Amino acid sequence: MNQINRVAIVGGTHGNEFTGVYLIKKFNQFPYLIERPSFETLTLLGNPKAFEENRRYIDNDLNRCFKSQDLLDPTLCGYEQMRAKAIHQILGPKGKSQVDVILDLHTTTANMGLSIMLENQHPFSLQLAAYLTSMNPLIKVSWTQPNQESALLRSLCELGFVIEVGPVAQGVLNADLFAKTEKLVYVMLDYIEGYNKGLVPQTHSTLTLYEYVGTLDYPRNEKGEIQAMIHQQLQFRDYEPLNPGEPIFLTFDGKEIAYEGESTVYPVFINEAAYYEKGIAMCLTKKQQVLLRD
Ligand SMILES: [Zn+2]
Repeated sequence: MNQINRVAIVGGTHGNEFTGVYLIKKFNQFPYLIERPSFETLTLLGNPKAFEENRRYIDNDLNRCFKSQDLLDPTLCGYEQMRAKAIHQILGPKGKSQVDVILDLHTTTANMGLSIMLENQHPFSLQLAAYLTSMNPLIKVSWTQPNQESALLRSLCELGFVIEVGPVAQGVLNADLFAKTEKLVYVMLDYIEGYNKGLVPQTHSTLTLYEYVGTLDYPRNEKGEIQAMIHQQLQFRDYEPLNPGEPIFLTFDGKEIAYEGESTVYPVFINEAAYYEKGIAMCLTKKQQVLLRD
């Protein structure tokens, strides 16, 4: 890849994550903010109907609708399944996308600060992530080893980035986090501009990467009802080490439930509101250092 020609900024893939929605509206009103000389930037409101109704989605989670077989399946006609097909027409197709980079803007109720989720370990993505963390050490970078085809919107192109910012409640704007997300978008666009001009700054040769290794659900009864809450000692402790034996849940009658894994992990998406229905109380990651190639 020698040149990045088109970048897509997507907001409101989840309709009740307002930061991305209102950033897209701002960029549409003031396009010069995201214009750079060497490439074209387009904006996309992911799930307008869900935004109107202040819901994450109408029928299905849009950000789980981008598997190739689903995009090509004419029998899938829920609102988000159709919306995914429309977005696939605009940005895709997978493997031959019309855009070189996707920045998909999300928020989380977990305390994840500014988090960048990579689609893969493409050298460009790692270098960009290393640059961002060198500029702002509070930025965290994560990655999922693919064991099956990704269903996320960002997977429409090779250089797909999910930006998760939190903690912020669903359906709420937070001025500080809005400004930080906005600045992060500009820094990423400026980096791409520099890349196109051969002016990419050499930064760190290593990158701290949080690799997803699994999820933990809430304790549930036979009816599927949760039996405990995130323990107060774990609340808002995203990206901090969790050791075996440390409490993770508190039952409604006050009993502590400890983490029973074999080694230290770094939980993220702790108590994410949207994940109760997905059977996820938190995602577990391993912290690792990745050596960057030139
Ligand atoms: Zn989201």
